[in-house]
Amino acid sequence: MSRIMGGATRILQGIQHFQQYVFGSKMSLFRRLGNGQAPLALFITCSDSRINPNLLTQTEPGELFILRNAGNLVPTHGGVSGSAATIEYALKVLHLRDVIVCGHSKCGAMQALLAPETLRELPAVSSWLTHARDILPEVDAAGASLTPAEKLNFAIERNVLLQIEHIRTYPFVAEMLAAGQLRLHGWVYHLESGQVTVHIPGKGRFMPLAEAMLHWERTSSTEGGMGSGAWSDSI
Ligand SMILES: [Zn+2]
Repeated sequence: MSRIMGGATRILQGIQHFQQYVFGSKMSLFRRLGNGQAPLALFITCSDSRINPNLLTQTEPGELFILRNAGNLVPTHGGVSGSAATIEYALKVLHLRDVIVCGHSKCGAMQALLAPETLRELPAVSSWLTHARDILPEVDAAGASLTPAEKLNFAIERNVLLQIEHIRTYPFVAEMLAAGQLRLHGWVYHLESGQVTVHIPGKGRFMPLAEAMLHWERTSSTEGGMGSGAWSDSI
């Protein structure tokens, strides 16, 4: 089989393993999922293979509605995109109340955004990354005093916040936010350490999850998540 299927062999063997040893142990879950889905949140992250949202959040099939693309980008309202359709379905049909934009360390899309000369042969990627370009003035201004690694991390964080602003441009999102029916969350997953840093609007910065949880305990629900609701409800 390996000669015929090449790199897909491991994947096909994985399916066989799943069918023989895993599916049976979760039979009731899969039967229930056959009747529909009721996920906990919309999780927007990068296509990067090093991110496994269900592993990271210890969730099961059916618990995360996931949108993935290069750079975890969301075009602003007005165009046609898979991102727009996914957000619309998640909020209007599945009635999700939490949207998480989760960037990640070592993001190749953000590296490319900072080094556009690497994109000469990648017109589709170059075009797609225009949805993140608005961070560049701020990143360039801050970058002078940062190491290249720090500059990349700063870009990753600013991009998460920019994409949250893009989500706000959808009229139904704005309505839900105004009605206190939606929470928008900005996270960065640090894949080398397993850490997740979380944006705290009142602090104006990302902080480690454990520190953020202490902050939420202290402030209870008085501090709105992205101005949209109680962060303490989000975890
Ligand atoms: Zn990435």
